[in-house]
Amino acid sequence: MRGTRIATFAVAMVAATALMGAQTAGPAPGESLSQSYRGSQSRNVEYQKIAPFKVMDNVYYVGPGSVSVWLVPTSAGLILIDTAQEPYVDYVIDNIRKVGFDPKNIKYILLTHGHLDHFGGAAKIKALSGARIALTETDWNFMATQQANAIKNGRGPKPGDEAPAKDMVIKEGDTITLGDTKMKVYVLPGHTPGSPAYEFTVYDNKKPYKGFVFGGPGPRNGVEGGTEFLKSIERLEKDFADVQVALNVHSFLNSYPYPNNMGILELRDVKAKNPNGPNPFINNALWRQWLKDAHAGAVKYIAEEKAKAQKGQTN
Ligand SMILES: [Zn+2]
Repeated sequence: MRGTRIATFAVAMVAATALMGAQTAGPAPGESLSQSYRGSQSRNVEYQKIAPFKVMDNVYYVGPGSVSVWLVPTSAGLILIDTAQEPYVDYVIDNIRKVGFDPKNIKYILLTHGHLDHFGGAAKIKALSGARIALTETDWNFMATQQANAIKNGRGPKPGDEAPAKDMVIKEGDTITLGDTKMKVYVLPGHTPGSPAYEFTVYDNKKPYKGFVFGGPGPRNGVEGGTEFLKSIERLEKDFADVQVALNVHSFLNSYPYPNNMGILELRDVKAKNPNGPNPFINNALWRQWLKDAHAGAVKYIAEEKAKAQKGQTN
């Protein structure tokens, strides 16, 4: 009898906890919605599975909440920018169907850099579609080396997250053409040694705008990476200050958050509330302010890394 009562109590507790979990899944105090996906809810797989949504006439967001996957339909098939990683790959594939396209029609998978959260699903989506996977030579090598090191350290990739076999090598100045769409390739290192960026025309109610995907929006790898990153930001400020639609690789950036808390999901919500109003994703001022923040942040990062390196030498 007593045993049964304890068991019943335990079951009730489990149910209550599950209910509480469902109710409290959301931003933690002080966190923005977009931030919650990379912060308090980063391991909450169900929370991450947001509904896909249309951003521009020719751009859809089909990724989980923490990492972007952009779908670009063209007159001759689909382009996918990044793929996310397991356990989200089937969900990404399903999202492509949900917004009305056949994932078998993906012709190109353009990777923004050689980090697992961006390329993890590439091999699986290639197997499904026969798409070419594009990345710079430097980041193809970086991706392979990272994986080899991880395996050596006993931290090999989970099944489904293996780095794809080397495929299409892209470089500065290339143009990838699919039907009516042209993707211009730039190399803007600093986050990884060879992060590519993609420029293409996006449309809102058939009106063209300058769209841009910056593959590596945060410095890594100490003074060397920081210095490369700052150079990339300076180039963006000089040559790409006119970007109108920044298609960012994460809904929230830990390094330099989007100005006014305008992450991808906040912009989505503004758009949903006023579907006939101006498209909030067209926002050159937001891009330029972010470049300013990233510039200042990169200068600070380099100074901090230099101080760390000096301290290391004197110890
Ligand atoms: Zn990364």
